[in-house]
Amino acid sequence: MKIGIVGSGGAGMCTAWLLDQGHEITLFEKKDYLGGNTHTVEVEVNGILHYVDDGANWFSPKIYPLFNRLLELQQIPFEWVPMSMTYYNTLTGNVNCMPPSTPRRFMQMFTKAHRLPELLLMNKVINASQKIVDNHETELTLGQFMDKLNLSDKQRNDFLKPLLSGVWGSPFDQTEDFSIYPLMKYLVYHKPSGLSGFEWKVMKGGVKQYIQLMADSLKNTEILVKDGVKHVQPNSETRKVSVTSESGKTFEFDKLIITAGARDAQMILEETNGIDEVKKALNRFEYYLATVCTHSDTRFMPPNRKDWSVVNVLHKGKHADATIWDGWNTNQDVFDSYINEGDDPKHVHHVSEWWLPCETPDFFRAQKELEKVQGTQNIYFGGDYTQDIGSHENAIESAVESCKRIWPKSERLALLTS
Ligand SMILES: Cc1cc2nc3c(=O)[nH]c(=O)nc-3n(C[C@H](O)[C@H](O)[C@H](O)COP(=O)(O)OP(=O)(O)OC[C@H]3O[C@@H](n4cnc5c(N)ncnc54)[C@H](O)[C@@H]3O)c2cc1C
Repeated sequence: MKIGIVGSGGAGMCTAWLLDQGHEITLFEKKDYLGGNTHTVEVEVNGILHYVDDGANWFSPKIYPLFNRLLELQQIPFEWVPMSMTYYNTLTGNVNCMPPSTPRRFMQMFTKAHRLPELLLMNKVINASQKIVDNHETELTLGQFMDKLNLSDKQRNDFLKPLLSGVWGSPFDQTEDFSIYPLMKYLVYHKPSGLSGFEWKVMKGGVKQYIQLMADSLKNTEILVKDGVKHVQPNSETRKVSVTSESGKTFEFDKLIITAGARDAQMILEETNGIDEVKKALNRFEYYLATVCTHSDTRFMPPNRKDWSVVNVLHKGKHADATIWDGWNTNQDVFDSYINEGDDPKHVHHVSEWWLPCETPDFFRAQKELEKVQGTQNIYFGGDYTQDIGSHENAIESAVESCKRIWPKSERLALLTS
């Protein structure tokens, strides 16, 4: 079969890898690099090179079974990062380090009146979310969850909402409308036992190395970079799908798999005839724009360097944003921050913009609607947003689902899912 794949993120690359041995594949990428939301910025500070992943960067050793298996099969090198977090409320000056896993952080719990109550609140919130996460309950919003727990205004507005908005990267004024399920999933399954934290995987040399290794392993796939798909039209008589790319080239495929996000998929299919139900399903997904800046500006960090963690959430009043300390293991001032109105980082190395789905209860309903129209006129949809909470594991999961639909006999599918 001739198969077209749109998008070179984790979903597109893994779909190509699963189908590559038995088909003739063309993979389209509209940007000038492979990887989509996996993007590495190289920053040299004081003679030390840092690989800053300003999109997807951490991969859970615990709840990423498919991705961990893929790393193993493809022998993709990775490193460990000890996950720690500091919450700094710039309005009150309060700083809280989590988990209290070093002697200093442990003693800190007792030195300021707000610290222990906030940690106990976090514990209560994680415990109350356990069942919701286990049962995949997606209808309850953060706002409703906080009402149910009878949280005080202070607990909601000075702590929980800004913390979760910063950790997830969601727009501050919409975070209460997000489902509690995605906001709490990582926290529930990575709750520190005792006083120790979790270690997460990062790719050696940045995520771009992983994407390149995937690309290098493809034998029957032609990759077209900087040539996005502009128009798609299925033919109900021939059962083929015609594709026109930005450069004006035309193609005909037996199957087309679109792994670009729903927002891009809507644009690609805007003028496609005969797929109204598909368009209706895609139009339900809503997106927001996140800006991530790689910089060396210490004003985005808690005031005392000893309080710095790998993840640092600063509550600034109108919004709360995470800054990742990419120089945590070199002790260099290399950071990447979500930036919002009023932020003006100095010593900027790079700025990226990402469109991300608003994970409200309707996001999860939209996933079910999209599922019903998969394969309409031989057009399929993959990508992180089609599965669960839109993590990299879900991008890989979407590739597995596409392969099961199109070529369930794939040997690589068996290897990946065994
Ligand atoms: C800032 C940020 C941090 C994140 N951190 C993590 C993390 O730590 N861990 C984690 O698990 N997940 C994380 N994610 C989620 C991440 O998006 C997923 O993990 C995953 O990388 C998405 O892969 P994908 O292939 O589904 O989509 P994408 O990576 O978005 O790939 C879609 C591709 O389609 C291309 N495309 C769009 N339109 C067209 C067109 N017309 N023609 C051709 N190509 C087109 C795009 O350019 C893009 O390359 C993060 C996301 C962001 C934005």
